[in-house]
Amino acid sequence: MKTYENYIDGKWQSSRGGKLREIHDPGNGELIAKVQESNRQDVVAAIQAARKAFDSGPWRKTSALDRGKILFKIAEGIRAQARKLAELEVRNCGKPLAEAEFDIADAANCFEFYGGLATKIHGETMQVPANSLSFVVREPIGVCGQIIPWNYPLLMAAWKLAPALAAGNCCILKPSEMTPLTALELADIFRQIELPAGVANIVTGPGAGAGEELTTNTLVDKIAFTGGTVTGRKIMTGAAANIKKISLELGGKNPNVVFADADLAASIDGALFGAFANQGEVCSAGSRLLVEKSIHKQLVEGMLAKIPKIKLGHGLSPGVKMGPLISATHRDKVESYIKLGLSEGAKLLCGGKRPEPSDLSTGYFVEPTIFDNVTPNMRISREEIFGPVLTVTTFSSEEEAVKLANDTDYGLAAGIWTQNVQKAVRVAQQVRAGIVWVNTYHPTFNEMPWGGYKQSGIGRELGLYGVDEYLETKQVNINLDEAPIGWY
Ligand code: NDP
Repeated sequence: MKTYENYIDGKWQSSRGGKLREIHDPGNGELIAKVQESNRQDVVAAIQAARKAFDSGPWRKTSALDRGKILFKIAEGIRAQARKLAELEVRNCGKPLAEAEFDIADAANCFEFYGGLATKIHGETMQVPANSLSFVVREPIGVCGQIIPWNYPLLMAAWKLAPALAAGNCCILKPSEMTPLTALELADIFRQIELPAGVANIVTGPGAGAGEELTTNTLVDKIAFTGGTVTGRKIMTGAAANIKKISLELGGKNPNVVFADADLAASIDGALFGAFANQGEVCSAGSRLLVEKSIHKQLVEGMLAKIPKIKLGHGLSPGVKMGPLISATHRDKVESYIKLGLSEGAKLLCGGKRPEPSDLSTGYFVEPTIFDNVTPNMRISREEIFGPVLTVTTFSSEEEAVKLANDTDYGLAAGIWTQNVQKAVRVAQQVRAGIVWVNTYHPTFNEMPWGGYKQSGIGRELGLYGVDEYLETKQVNINLDEAPIGWY
């Protein structure tokens, strides 16, 4: 069993407080690693290393071409260990192996995408009403603190680090204290490829303390956060200390809207995959299924017929389609929402309990759960459960579907199922969400922006938009008149 240290200033370092945290496999409770339970001093050391690397280190002088090449090497490093990283991801956060393999490949693709983009960052020249040469340059923001959640550990690390490094920033990444292992393996890739010291630091530790220091420390210029909306509010408050730039990727309660003219088989698959991929621990999960009344019966029967195919088990066991939840505490939270749904009068169609086979009793499993007859005012329809719980609500018209879809504080993602292209476009235009899928659910591309409307966040990750969040914009104005201003 490995004990990991923090990666600070290009070196492995133990926490100054000397505390360790045990990491357990949520699928069977086994102890799999120990990591540093870092305190504020550790985070300060990482911030100082990043500050030094940005202000006086080589990174700002490294050409965009060379930064790009370094990101390609990171992608290669991830690919070379893809299997090991995927298995570690399964053991640390519970997802099925096939999903973890996809995440690891996508993390490598993300570094490659931003490696290529590093040389395409550019300013522009504007025609101004004066005899001047006026142009815009884009520059790195400086030192970026990055805080990520536990559901997509390496992928979230890639989404944060790749654009930031491509733009020339120096970073301190704090993974979730529950799932830090693949981010720490990524740090080892940084060490192997000799990424200059201090450019990317990985510090493990709790949000209260380590995360707060990163958020409030005035040597940090920008904070990029993915996590819950409640924590997002705290990050905004903390970032006010020195008016940090912020980007926030927060929660969702996403509508997946099925019209009567949809391909039934495809929408059944899309409804189940939207709700239950990654155990439903997905910010963009299609957890609110809105179904046109006339096909409600067929859709529900179709979903129930397929539920037995969602095999629960440890993510490394063959054929498993749904792993355990991340922790006992999180399972308790999901179960409390199931109880709440029953007390609110929703009709439980399937699941709602832990699986029977005793070989799963040491993991934090909950069966895929579907509630029918859910009304929009019920809390199970309004609050993010972040587990395998799908609510079904019916509608009678396109107008009502749009109204229900938008009846939420969140605005991250939405799905629309119809074979009528005009209807698909009409509804997509009216839904207030950062990502709208039509006749599909969940595909995410490094090339395309990701982020939310309303309380689902601020800013966008991925694509050209993702790198923008890590750039300052400077105008340079060169007077071409040779005579003095002559104002006085
Ligand atoms: P949390 O908000 O609880 O935590 C996210 C990260 O923030 C963790 O690293 C956590 O540290 C840290 N943190 C907690 N409190 C503070 C604080 N006061 N100051 C600084 N950092 C802090 O979210 P979860 O980890 O539970 O993840 C689930 C949430 O993430 C869901 O709401 C989900 O929707 C959202 N999410 C959003 C995504 C998007 O793209 N929009 C993608 C993935 C998830 P620690 O836990 O280690 O103590």
